[in-house]
Amino acid sequence: TISLDQLIAWLSRFRDLVTEKKSYLTELDSAIGDADHGSNMTRGMGAVIEKIGAAPSTAVDELLKSVGMTLVTSVGGAAGPLYGTLFLRMGVSAGPVTELDGAAFGAALRAGLDGVVARGKAEAGDKTMFDAIDPALDAWDAAVAGGSDIAAAASAALAAAEKGRDATEPLVARKGRASYLGERSAGHIDPGATSSTMLFQALADTVT
Ligand code: ADP
Ligand code: MG
Ligand code: MG
Repeated sequence: TISLDQLIAWLSRFRDLVTEKKSYLTELDSAIGDADHGSNMTRGMGAVIEKIGAAPSTAVDELLKSVGMTLVTSVGGAAGPLYGTLFLRMGVSAGPVTELDGAAFGAALRAGLDGVVARGKAEAGDKTMFDAIDPALDAWDAAVAGGSDIAAAASAALAAAEKGRDATEPLVARKGRASYLGERSAGHIDPGATSSTMLFQALADTVT
């Protein structure tokens, strides 16, 4: 299972990763967007960790809904509302529990991704964060269904996210700011697919 403390460690590690890679995320967004993805993610996750420290949660839904609300209110543009929706819906799906087993964690993140799709209408191959998260969740579910422990499921999900992220490079963007570039968006890795792969890197780093 994944405890409330492990979820907080996951979020905190995600904050550290986006902060460490802030310049790289911004560089990716400068090629096909408006060069703010690094600062958006760093600002948003900084606010999230500050909020968690100031107002501790006693249940998974309360924690994740607070994460989502903080992202929606502290980050503008596409990523704030999309990541915000991911965590809000994840919290609603998780419910007022204090830990999640592998299947429940996968189902909660899937509900979060469904929220991202409801909001942003991304499909596979549109060159967005969906292209990293969707295959990662498929790999997570398959690992959990096959009897893998949480750590093994997390490494399987990370490998799938990385593959999905790298596969965005040749794609022409069909959603978000990058789509304004048309064919010129090809040849660059998507910034949101890169930050969302860090969600799975953070998970692999923190669950044992
Ligand atoms: P903005 O484009 O508003 O500056 P960011 O740069 O922070 O916001 O985030 C850009 C990322 O958001 C993209 O790389 C892409 O992965 C993701 N994104 C944009 N639009 C969508 C969408 N409709 N559905 C899913 N993800 C999207
Ligand atoms: Mg941007
Ligand atoms: Mg922007």
